[in-house]
Amino acid sequence: MTTMTDKSSPRVRIISHPDVRRSLMVQKAYSEGMRALVLYTASIQDAIAMGRADGMAEDELKSLDALNDLLLPIVKGYGSEKSWVLLGTESLQTFGGSGFTMDWPLEQYVRDAKIDTLYEGTTAIQGLDFFFRKIVKDQGKAIGKISSEMSAFATSGGLLAEEKQAFGKALQEVGTMISTLVGHAMASQEKVTELYKIGLNTSRLLMAVGDVVIAWLLLRQAEIAMGRLDGKDKEFYAGKVAAAKYFVAHVLPHITADRKILEAEDGSLMDLAEASF
Ligand SMILES: Cc1cc2nc3c(=O)[nH]c(=O)nc-3n(C[C@H](O)[C@H](O)[C@H](O)COP(=O)(O)OP(=O)(O)OC[C@H]3O[C@@H](n4cnc5c(N)ncnc54)[C@H](O)[C@@H]3O)c2cc1C
Repeated sequence: MTTMTDKSSPRVRIISHPDVRRSLMVQKAYSEGMRALVLYTASIQDAIAMGRADGMAEDELKSLDALNDLLLPIVKGYGSEKSWVLLGTESLQTFGGSGFTMDWPLEQYVRDAKIDTLYEGTTAIQGLDFFFRKIVKDQGKAIGKISSEMSAFATSGGLLAEEKQAFGKALQEVGTMISTLVGHAMASQEKVTELYKIGLNTSRLLMAVGDVVIAWLLLRQAEIAMGRLDGKDKEFYAGKVAAAKYFVAHVLPHITADRKILEAEDGSLMDLAEASF
């Protein structure tokens, strides 16, 4: 880019272009974050299996089960949506026109990834399940448990204190989104149409919670990587720190906009005549 007006400048690989780097980092941060989310959820399932085998107290097992249940719509709903969107808008795009052809596997990944947003309950259904069953019916216990853990991490300082602070803000925004929707749920006992304000925002909430959980897991990895920036595989660890910082700076600020949109919801979309669509 710095020599773009010089006709004699040599050709460069596409990784030299800022927008390609942006796209690669978006893909890296989300895919590493989502992989971490799947493994974190699997670790909860392992803890349940080991707890059962070791005679863990029933209330502790129940609490782990509820956490696993809470995480499942995030893994399925958030994971499949982000994978499908990113494969199409970023990964295939990185290949340019050849990404559209069958010379590369990308076009098939895009088609294959789409089904994950549909079967076993579409994303909208995952969003409804997440709010009504995994939060309201659970009386907020599982979301409260994981939020306290994330909140303690956000205030734990250290070398990534600034990023953790930004993460803590996003966590608070998500907390506000949840309490606003819980308020609508309570109000719906008096006025049933208040439920629409929830239904219009459950997918938004699911995606925002997914982003916050991913940011937490990326920052946890980055914290470990910070201590290994000088040794063997230093580029690998630098990539971990860069991905976490990128996600915090470029994704989390959108959650404030989501919170504002959700709070401003008046439900009027439900009054619009079908013919107007
Ligand atoms: C390749 C493939 C394999 C499959 N394999 C199996 C299988 O092995 N076993 C099996 O049982 N099923 C299987 N299915 C079915 C699959 O589970 C359903 O397609 C899926 O659950 C979506 O249901 P639907 O197609 O009836 O869509 P619909 O329920 O009609 O949904 C249409 C749209 O409306 C939205 N929507 C519907 N209800 C609501 C609501 N209450 N609130 C908000 N939005 C809503 C949906 O999100 C979606 O966007 C398969 C489907 C495919 C495509």
